[in-house]
Amino acid sequence: MLVDMHVHTIISSPCSFIHPEELIEWAREVGLDALCVTEHDEVEGAMVAYELGKQRGFSVFRGVEIYTDLGDMLVFGLLRDAPSWIVPFEELWREVREVGGAIIPAHPCRNQGSLFEILGDEKAEALLRRSDALEVLNGGTNREYNRLAMEIARSYRLPGVGGSDAHHLAQVGRCLTVFQRELENEEDLIEEIKSGRCQARYIEEVPSLRKTQGGEKK
Ligand SMILES: [Zn+2]
Ligand SMILES: [Zn+2]
Repeated sequence: MLVDMHVHTIISSPCSFIHPEELIEWAREVGLDALCVTEHDEVEGAMVAYELGKQRGFSVFRGVEIYTDLGDMLVFGLLRDAPSWIVPFEELWREVREVGGAIIPAHPCRNQGSLFEILGDEKAEALLRRSDALEVLNGGTNREYNRLAMEIARSYRLPGVGGSDAHHLAQVGRCLTVFQRELENEEDLIEEIKSGRCQARYIEEVPSLRKTQGGEKK
């Protein structure tokens, strides 16, 4: 199952130009099987896309991208808005653990250096020990830093996931996650991530997908 795990829509992310209706049609056309909508600190966009997906027969999984003192976290299984202040990672991690959700550092090496350079060794270690997976392929991050994130995931034995971090329609699917089985719902998604039965891929590594980067369609 091919899933773009990190998409922003215009509903809750003012920095995005993607309307949920167009998103679902586009994702289907690209060849994705499902999408995760992960807005900045708010779940409304994910809810809207989820309902629309149900009506149109396309799987949308709901998540949220929460800004913490240790960077942006993709969170699944905890469906609520983040407060307007920077959430302490430790607090968020406890809450996610209590509900059996998954917490995944987004773009851990985003064009500023590795996670260790950004946070320092101690904080980076603590973060990696508590994470359920790492976003090793992020569509908004250059390939060198994605490679670095992949190396970190490997050495900490963390599952790696991929997501486009799309803010424009043409970016949807540029990075994605391949799951070994069909996912019916968010519980399945969380279970498969935690068990590591997933792999991050660039769009061109999956021959069945259409390359839409930059609006170019084949
Ligand atoms: Zn982010
Ligand atoms: Zn994002």
